[in-house]
Amino acid sequence: MKDLISYGAYLVQKEKLRKKRPKTVRLTPLQQVPEEEAVCFSCGADLFKSDMYQQYRVCNSCGFHQNISAWERIYLLADPASFIELELYGTITDPSPLLGNEDYEERIREARERTGLSEAVIAGTCTIGGNPAVLAVLDFGFLGGNMGMVVGDRIAKAFETATSKNLPIVTVVSSGGARIEEGVLSLVQMAKTITTAKQLYNKNLAHISILTHPTTGEVYASFANLGDVIFAEPKAMIGFAPLRVVAQTEKSELSEMGHTAESHLEHGLIDQIVHRTKLRNLISITLDLFSSRYRLGVKKKVTPYMASTHPQEQAWDTIQLARHEERPTALDYITEMTQSFVEIHGDRSYRDDPAIVCGLAELGGQAVVIIGQQRDRNEGRTTPEGFRKAQRAMKMAAKFGLPLINLIDTPGAYPGAESEERGIGNALASTMSLLSDLPTPVISVIIGQGGSEGALALGIANRVLIMENAFLSVIPPERAASIMLRDVKRAEELASTLKLTAADCKEFGVVDLVVPEPAGGAHTDPAEAARLLRNLILRELLQIQGYSPEKHARSRYKRFRYVGSSAPFLGGIFAKQTAQIQKFLQGEDTTAEESVQITEEPDPEKPLDDDSDPLPLP
Ligand SMILES: [Zn+2]
Repeated sequence: MKDLISYGAYLVQKEKLRKKRPKTVRLTPLQQVPEEEAVCFSCGADLFKSDMYQQYRVCNSCGFHQNISAWERIYLLADPASFIELELYGTITDPSPLLGNEDYEERIREARERTGLSEAVIAGTCTIGGNPAVLAVLDFGFLGGNMGMVVGDRIAKAFETATSKNLPIVTVVSSGGARIEEGVLSLVQMAKTITTAKQLYNKNLAHISILTHPTTGEVYASFANLGDVIFAEPKAMIGFAPLRVVAQTEKSELSEMGHTAESHLEHGLIDQIVHRTKLRNLISITLDLFSSRYRLGVKKKVTPYMASTHPQEQAWDTIQLARHEERPTALDYITEMTQSFVEIHGDRSYRDDPAIVCGLAELGGQAVVIIGQQRDRNEGRTTPEGFRKAQRAMKMAAKFGLPLINLIDTPGAYPGAESEERGIGNALASTMSLLSDLPTPVISVIIGQGGSEGALALGIANRVLIMENAFLSVIPPERAASIMLRDVKRAEELASTLKLTAADCKEFGVVDLVVPEPAGGAHTDPAEAARLLRNLILRELLQIQGYSPEKHARSRYKRFRYVGSSAPFLGGIFAKQTAQIQKFLQGEDTTAEESVQITEEPDPEKPLDDDSDPLPLP
């Protein structure tokens, strides 16, 4: 009975709230700034007649992005007449009486009168480019956008609303950090916002975090730093500790260098710096790609595979073509094959490796995550932070259920001392380990040089493709020649014995498909090369897209557990090595190779059907 009464009371309360539900907020454009005030804070330029300044508060002389209010921000981001402010029932409204701090009460009252806001954050639902989302915006004008109990509570509410309604969230931050007046109650807002943000991530919903001038302290080190993608406005001051504290700690002059959006991009901490005029469009495209709107729906008919019409080049000629100066790079293929490429940057901990390009894109109507090794940057040598950046992209593919396309083109991982210090071995191994059971389709294509570990690290895929004039090699032929023949000039004669051409890889079952190139090589007609590649990637994708997450991982396991063992030639080698080891253990001379009886291993069932059970382990 008691339950019934309380349930009745709940319904009455719910009905009251429904009636009180706020209407769509009618947003107005940014107010025209009067002539005497229309001056750039940074360079002093007169901006009265500048449309960009009047509409966006951006200086067209120096590019300074002036701070704008939360409502102005919402006007610039949300679709017209789509923003509905969140019900604030159940959230804290004013903690100052609780704290018994009259000065603070007065400051809040004054801030409310001045800004017309009840607190330093506005949150609501809206659409951005037609994509429904929750939008939460901090207002620096209200006590520095600092995070007290009310701000923390409303941010938490915004994350909870997104989680319960299955919506992505966009947060826009301009904040100094904590609300010191609220003491420890302000500090714990970090934990409050992070725990609610985690609920959203666990439901695989997207969080786009926008950092604007300034983003520091507690807000910077909590939810604002957890976005799946983080964008920042140009020259925004971003950082954890106040500049003064950094200078004291370093015992150096005060310098803003580390506390800028630009420095954050260089150090791999944010994904992109975005001009305010382009922000709405970029958020909209990113939400498009994260949403389920771009998925290959009906199973289209798989186009037949058209093999190359010209014979395979000799190994040394292949190597020359793969290294050809004008051969299309990963970015060339991405630009030619996909639309709406949203690039992500950085490993979120040390640096952005320019030799890895990755991000979200649309490929033939399907949203994909794409990772490429860019051979014209740092010689295409991937650093540990490059692999960790790639891992971010892989996790993004897993989270949003997007196919992953890897474009391999590297002479090898970066072999310098810093690379060792930052854990290149760990980066390579963890990348391969992550790929091995990624719950989403993975297609890897060797588009140029497939240089040993650096190439294989991106090659643990459900389907491995190789372009006709690309190669995969355990060692560069020049180094092989210097080790084996003590003469680097004899690389050419050694090349064919390294079994590195597309045809060799196909014969050994190391790759599944050879992608034809235009006559003379991809560089003779890059657009045609990209078209041929795109067709085959989509062809392979169509065949495996229907797999369950477990089946994607299982089929990769089977593929690599038995890779190469189906080639009779390799079976012979394994048998020979086993026999040698046995002889060695029996104390016989193992160098007498001729005396070893080579027995062919029984051929494991080939080809390995993805539906078949794994073969029993030997
Ligand atoms: Zn300026």
